[in-house]
Amino acid sequence: MNFSELGLSPKVLEAVTAAGYTTPTAIQAQAIPHALQRKDVMGLAQTGSGKTAAFVLPMLTLLEKGRARARMPRTLILEPTRELAAQVQEAFETLGKLHNLNVALLIGGVAFDPQAAKIDRGADVVIATPGRLLDMFERGRLLLTGIEMLVIDEADRMLDMGFIPDIERICKLLPFTRQTLFFSATMPPEIQRLTTQFLHNPERIEATRPSSTAETIEQKLVSVPHEAKQKREALRALLRTQDNVKNAIVFANRKTTVALLEKSLKAHGFNAGALHGDMDQSARLKTLAAFRANEITYLIASDVAARGLDIPEVSHVFNFDVPTHAEDYVHRIGRTGRAGREGHAFTMLTKEEGKYWKAIETLIKKDVPFFELGEVPADSKSGPEREERPGRGRRERGGRDRSHEKREPRAPRAEAEAPAPAQQPRAAKPQHTPKPEARGPRPERQDRRPSRHHDDDAAPDHSRFHGDNMPAFLMRPVKAG
Ligand code: AMP
Repeated sequence: MNFSELGLSPKVLEAVTAAGYTTPTAIQAQAIPHALQRKDVMGLAQTGSGKTAAFVLPMLTLLEKGRARARMPRTLILEPTRELAAQVQEAFETLGKLHNLNVALLIGGVAFDPQAAKIDRGADVVIATPGRLLDMFERGRLLLTGIEMLVIDEADRMLDMGFIPDIERICKLLPFTRQTLFFSATMPPEIQRLTTQFLHNPERIEATRPSSTAETIEQKLVSVPHEAKQKREALRALLRTQDNVKNAIVFANRKTTVALLEKSLKAHGFNAGALHGDMDQSARLKTLAAFRANEITYLIASDVAARGLDIPEVSHVFNFDVPTHAEDYVHRIGRTGRAGREGHAFTMLTKEEGKYWKAIETLIKKDVPFFELGEVPADSKSGPEREERPGRGRRERGGRDRSHEKREPRAPRAEAEAPAPAQQPRAAKPQHTPKPEARGPRPERQDRRPSRHHDDDAAPDHSRFHGDNMPAFLMRPVKAG
């Protein structure tokens, strides 16, 4: 299959060649001809499948006819996150560079007026997150009656983020005769209902099985304690066991954990950066650019913040928490082992997370083996937190920024030993014994606080998962060395 067989315009084909695409991906080969015939499309496709171009290319071709009018955009693309919206805008810059279109990005967290001014001039394409779009509409700055084509991207993520009512509202504001292209990595019942309601006789296409994980990904489980500080120690120990890390994403379930992990890893000399929902747009893009440029080795991210990011060639994924939605596991580890390359995915598993892991194993239909971490060294002795002399304050506040350094110096420094009452010799110390943390990162309580914010899963009630629900393999103790 060749791009020239899909019915795209010569101008679009020229841009495709300039972008270096030679062969359409499965989703492109299937979706583009239908989209060009103005049919509705329902595509089951994940990030990395080339789905952005699957809607951008036909859209560009169709937009060659006609002109935008003031305040009446012609096409609308809905994205769940600002990052994804920005990525689609980049795709328009690359693939639409010969088209001279007015593309407006309507996302939260940035100034309203310049966005409105773009709409005033007449936008061919609006790329929006649902909240900002409705805001703009309610303020009377935008008319939706001229929309010829609607793209709903990452619909299952919209569901996770509670955007479905907004999507329904937006769909009802659009002309009935519009064309709709709908993409989702999974099709839970709520999403199916949405497609029944708003798509007309759609062409159903599927690029990947959402429950499958690539064979090129080596998946491992690591049994770890639940207590947060010990869990972080286990993560550091795990990171140190891997010497072939080119770049890695460390996933955590909550943005508070992401922020805490970033601080903690940096304080221990790891070259880390964070991506979470509380960061402003420019900070996120800066971190992402640094990660792409290999200036950051470990990107700590929540699912929402990382969703859909186009990061090629991630060598490792570490799940600091087991995702509470099984599909998120597939998304997370799908960041590695792309395009037939070898990838590594480690999932840290506490007893309390057994129920979530069971659901994942059922989904992926695989038995994931355990990786024996061995003794987790009390490495806080070698971390910068311990290197400070008493009374000098925390490293995070006033210390030298070591984030550019790749790895923490491994050798423990004798003078760094924090004097601890009743201190045991190191070798004899039982693993994961709770120990007061003299200058460790902040109290852990904030991790467990339930939150309904977009970037947070509600804190699971761990107490429910003790006892009868526990799979036998989780009951065994963590190996002490
Ligand atoms: P997406 O799934 O849309 O996020 O695309 C993933 C990556 O694949 C992006 O970096 C695209 O630029 C790239 N890509 C999309 N289509 C093709 C293609 N036909 N050939 C090569 N790369 C592509």
